[in-house]
Amino acid sequence: MPIDSDFQKNRKVVDEHNDHKVWGPVEPPTKLGIHGTNVAVDWDSCTGDGICAETCPVSLYDMVDTPGHPTSEKKSDPAREKECIQCLACESSCPTASIKITTT
Ligand code: SF4
Repeated sequence: MPIDSDFQKNRKVVDEHNDHKVWGPVEPPTKLGIHGTNVAVDWDSCTGDGICAETCPVSLYDMVDTPGHPTSEKKSDPAREKECIQCLACESSCPTASIKITTT
């Protein structure tokens, strides 16, 4: 399932991780929510292929281990979200449409 593009209306912030917000629901290790706000990655649909991390011109993603998650045991973390230049390369290349960039 692709990321809910209205997640900022439909979900609530339940945590912070690496200086970005985490939008619930979160029930580790099987439900991990959405990481980031302007650069948002749905960890429950992310398959951890890392195309976003390879494509991002400012290298803001880190790959993190998520043992026990049913979709994949690796996720893209928007660790340096504030550095985004809104090129949309990650959003358009994600094979599972798990990324939503909110332009400002
Ligand atoms: S929109 Fe561009 S700069 Fe921003 S996270 Fe995606 S690839 Fe990186």
